Amino acid sequence: MELKALHIPRVLRGFDAGADQVFDLRLQDGRIASIRPSAEAARGLLLSAPVEAHAHIDKNYTVEETGGAQGDLFSAIRRMEVHRASWNGATLQPRMERALQEAWRFGTRALRTHLDWGRPEAPASLAVLEALRDAWRGRIELQFVALTPLDVYADEDAGARIAREVQRAQGVLGAFVYRNADLAPKLRRVFALAVQHGLRLDFHVDEGLDVEARGLRQIAELTLEHGLQGRVVCGHACSLSVQPDDEALETLALCARAGLHLIALPSTNLYLQGAWDRTPVQRGLTRLHEARAAGLGLSLATDNVQDAFYPYGGYDLLDTFALGVQAAHLAPALDWIDTVTMGPAQALGLDWDGRLHEGAPADLLWLQARHEYELIGPRGRARRVIRAGRLLEEMHP
Ligand SMILES: [Zn+2]
Repeated sequence: MELKALHIPRVLRGFDAGADQVFDLRLQDGRIASIRPSAEAARGLLLSAPVEAHAHIDKNYTVEETGGAQGDLFSAIRRMEVHRASWNGATLQPRMERALQEAWRFGTRALRTHLDWGRPEAPASLAVLEALRDAWRGRIELQFVALTPLDVYADEDAGARIAREVQRAQGVLGAFVYRNADLAPKLRRVFALAVQHGLRLDFHVDEGLDVEARGLRQIAELTLEHGLQGRVVCGHACSLSVQPDDEALETLALCARAGLHLIALPSTNLYLQGAWDRTPVQRGLTRLHEARAAGLGLSLATDNVQDAFYPYGGYDLLDTFALGVQAAHLAPALDWIDTVTMGPAQALGLDWDGRLHEGAPADLLWLQARHEYELIGPRGRARRVIRAGRLLEEMHP
């Protein structure tokens, strides 16, 4: 297969391009066989297939049953608790598979979902996840995180059972952390379990605008103390946006030393943070520019889709990216395109880092946009998905 006259963003070029920006590619045997400078002006834009670093496929598409929570995180949590009584394999499977179908059609090559896991025994969603992970192997690499309220880890036996089951199912250990009582000893327990069972960690942390929410800093300290650099991911960190500059920058420097990966969730953050009884001023997006300057790994991810937390949305990562670009002033936009490609590949520990070069997997998005100004709009985001060197519509019409 030949691809002609495509612009490849600078951050995705894993080859020496000199001054060239537009390239012709040949794909063969599922790989990029050659990349050559093109004699023509750009006719489109080429990206590596995006990676979804943070989703909740166990609860998506439930908003018609739960209602939207109108911007109140803890009200959304209570609504989902009630709804969870109806969760079993038969009700979970269709909506979990629907998420993968949608992500696949938009070109996503890997997806990490959190699974609500509030009790010592594994949730019903785990068996569904494991079956889907097998069924989708080769299309979407599926990972899961146990999303457990931090307080559950106060019970040593409960924490140990969760960690053992996560290890058996080859998942990632996680916790929801927000201003808990006795935060430090409970977090320490999570880290001890991760070390004991050889697990990676992925937190929901500081998802609120209280300046006193400082879980991120404690996670960075514990990561260094336990030697888990490069194995810990933190989603949200909204409170960082309202803390004093010097404190926030100091925290980010510590996070960089700890090799933390930070994920911003634009749609959910914008929807759940800030006022609902007036026009919101505070918006809750974490400090992306400062985090990049400090040297942290960064991703943008989708988070909730059509559930009590966020009643809208879908699984097009370019939609999430466009929202992030507009809300956080990520310009020039193509300099940030790694936040939905290489960044999440690193966070998930994938084999391929998402850089384009000869020999790299031919898992690509071929976009109609010819430059970044067209990318932030529906026409430019029109795409052909290429997997293993073949057009998706030819493989699965
Ligand atoms: Zn989440």
